[in-house]
Amino acid sequence: MEIKMNSAPHMSLIALFVSLVLFLSQRSITAQQERKSASDSTAPSTATEGIKKLSAGSGKYELLLDTSETPELREWAENELAPVMQKWYPEIIQMLPSDGYQAPTNVTIQFSKEMRGVAATSGTKIRCAAKWFSENLKGEAKGAVFHELVHVVQNYGLGRRKNPDGQRMPGWLVEGIADYLRWYKYEPESKGAEITKRNFSRARYDASYRPTANFLNWTVSNYSPELVVVLNAAAREGKYNDDLWKEKTGKTVQELGNEWKTQIERKLIDAGELVVNGLTEEEKKAGWKLLFNGKDFDGWHVFKMNSVRPGWQVKDGALVCADPHNAGDLCTDQQFDWFELELEYNISAGGNSGIIYHVTDEGGAVWATGP
Ligand SMILES: [Zn+2]
Repeated sequence: MEIKMNSAPHMSLIALFVSLVLFLSQRSITAQQERKSASDSTAPSTATEGIKKLSAGSGKYELLLDTSETPELREWAENELAPVMQKWYPEIIQMLPSDGYQAPTNVTIQFSKEMRGVAATSGTKIRCAAKWFSENLKGEAKGAVFHELVHVVQNYGLGRRKNPDGQRMPGWLVEGIADYLRWYKYEPESKGAEITKRNFSRARYDASYRPTANFLNWTVSNYSPELVVVLNAAAREGKYNDDLWKEKTGKTVQELGNEWKTQIERKLIDAGELVVNGLTEEEKKAGWKLLFNGKDFDGWHVFKMNSVRPGWQVKDGALVCADPHNAGDLCTDQQFDWFELELEYNISAGGNSGIIYHVTDEGGAVWATGP
């Protein structure tokens, strides 16, 4: 279902009555199969029990692969992961150049038995959670290490030391750059950062990781081929600044983000994969119900009334609270028990607006019965 609305300041609350089973659709992001990455790197040079020294960049870099805690991962790490790291560590360094920058020459990758999660990087040490890796060897394992290698090369701690009072590179962008290189340079064929009808509603330019990777790729392709290099170099100097976006593209990052999202939306609509104020066949089959049709107040009333007061209007396919003093709380006619709600909204700075659910008619106000 899709509800859209624009909000005026102090917009009233929308209450959703609930009592019938609405629906449940699994919206997990489909895991992309990572395909084999070609590699022509040389074989590792030396080996001891679970610790292997790998040479990369014609001997310029040394990567220490430590599987001493996880013998079960050793064969995969030494045969499949090692050549990926040897090939790509020097390439990542080339893709993220900056004046006078020397990337770390020694990197350690350790597989940890106890670690939870996926992987983490601190300085030049990458730790990988053995449990997650053993479950993802055929899927995203190598790509996850690639992502961490980017963090080693990014080295933004340098910027914080050089210019401790400078604006910090936002975390979403640090992760976005790592994922941009991963999904668009290392394994573009996997299309792992595509925006589809499934994840469109969560696609924000600053959503970090894959959505940001997609946004960066779009901005690089449409506005500024050197954008990522420039942002990266600034972050290393402790000189990241939001104005860099405008300097490089003529637009603020928010303007770019809106344009990016609108273009994706149009593409999905043209492909028949997205219907605004409507449901696709697939959504109907999955049990979604449309609460707002984009045209009128069919299915809605104001709390404790049989109709909708004139402060509520439909404008450009959106529910708009045009006059908060003559609006009241808008409620669905139908009631739902368990449900998943999806909507898009705009809210003004300081606007007072929200969703109250499981509301009944018993209280004197919607908030008396619903959280
Ligand atoms: Zn990361």
